[in-house]
Amino acid sequence: MGVRAFHIGSVLVLVALMEWGGALSPVLQAQTPALRADGARMQERILRLAEFGRDPRGGVSRLAFSEADRQGRAYIIALMRQAGLTVRVDPAGNIIGRREGREPHLPPIVFGSHIDSVPNGGRYDGVVGVIGAIECIEVLNAHGVTTRHPLEVIVFADEEGGLVGSRALIGALTPEALAVVSHSGMTVREGIRAIGGDPDRLAEVVRRPGEIAAFLELHIEQGGTLEAEGAQIGVVEGIVGIRWWDVVIEGFANHAGTTPMNQRRDALVAAAELILAVNRVVTSVPGRQVGTVGRITAEPGAPNVIPGRVRMSLELRDLSAEKIEQLFERIREEARAIEARRGVTITFTPIDATAVPAPTDERLRRLIAETARELGLRTLFLPSGAGHDAQNMARMAPTGMIFVPSVGGISHSPQEYTRPEDLANGATVLLHTILKIDRGALP
Ligand SMILES: [Zn+2]
Repeated sequence: MGVRAFHIGSVLVLVALMEWGGALSPVLQAQTPALRADGARMQERILRLAEFGRDPRGGVSRLAFSEADRQGRAYIIALMRQAGLTVRVDPAGNIIGRREGREPHLPPIVFGSHIDSVPNGGRYDGVVGVIGAIECIEVLNAHGVTTRHPLEVIVFADEEGGLVGSRALIGALTPEALAVVSHSGMTVREGIRAIGGDPDRLAEVVRRPGEIAAFLELHIEQGGTLEAEGAQIGVVEGIVGIRWWDVVIEGFANHAGTTPMNQRRDALVAAAELILAVNRVVTSVPGRQVGTVGRITAEPGAPNVIPGRVRMSLELRDLSAEKIEQLFERIREEARAIEARRGVTITFTPIDATAVPAPTDERLRRLIAETARELGLRTLFLPSGAGHDAQNMARMAPTGMIFVPSVGGISHSPQEYTRPEDLANGATVLLHTILKIDRGALP
């Protein structure tokens, strides 16, 4: 009780100073970590939400636009209202809960994630960022803190079906995307209507640069790097870009019994060399870039015929588009050497399934890392190999992303789990990052 009173007292002094408009002394800044998220409350709400779309096989199937999604959204809207937020559903179906600031002309600080899931998915993916965002509001309420900027908690519509809600915010939700049939069986257009949006008024949701002060997304890592490195907070450097190619190797199909080894133009042997070359090139430079050949077919595909043609895939991912390009150039050089050696031709056709890298804002990375350190948490900078709404938001507003550990690195699975203390750490870092932005940490 005494400790709590002390904390509240220091916050009141802090608030008084903020009202007064003076710069915060380092001492007061050091005391703001008294504002802490409640991991047990977050866990309880995450489990409550998991009841909507609970899958008999374990985990949740809360597909975007489904009845379960609509029930889950109603639960979240109720939590937002209970936390005093003014809630609306925008024409794209995004839920936005707003808390006014002291300076109404300032653009809002926006934070949130999604609550739709993949079929038979986990309880934490996206949900942690939404429950964590509401937790920040609750903690501010409990301590009577009013920010300068308005705050907006956002729940993006249909994240798993292709980042639908955030695409709408940047004006990139095309008529073709609206016609796609989602997991729910409805088209995206029908689905947006089912959750209270209006696909004919999407122009109204587009936000332009400057209209959002900053966007922050708290999310589970969905991989095992934080756990393996013993880090509690991941500072996301960005969402990696992805490029795909169709690779065709033309050799000459001939009799496997009568064609001497030195007269063959074996497309599959050339493919084997190329696959090894991809692995060698991608691992030959420092960094977290990845390269994969995940699919291969050989023709005609008979034990007694030398393969005349091979079709295979090539995928490269990295945070830097230039690095992907450089790696691809080196793979092409290797391919030219294989062509000469093996008497084959190798062609690379780019596939239009690419995602451009979306780096997060460097100032926000520093701010998140500094905030975590002040809270005594171990941090790690890392890229996100999975896609997130933040990658769209990064095209319009300074964007930061905070990862918390996934136990065992498991995600998109009923086994997905994040410990309550990690939930609390993530939401607390989110909260204090918001407060720093509010005080003008982003010049
Ligand atoms: Zn997610």
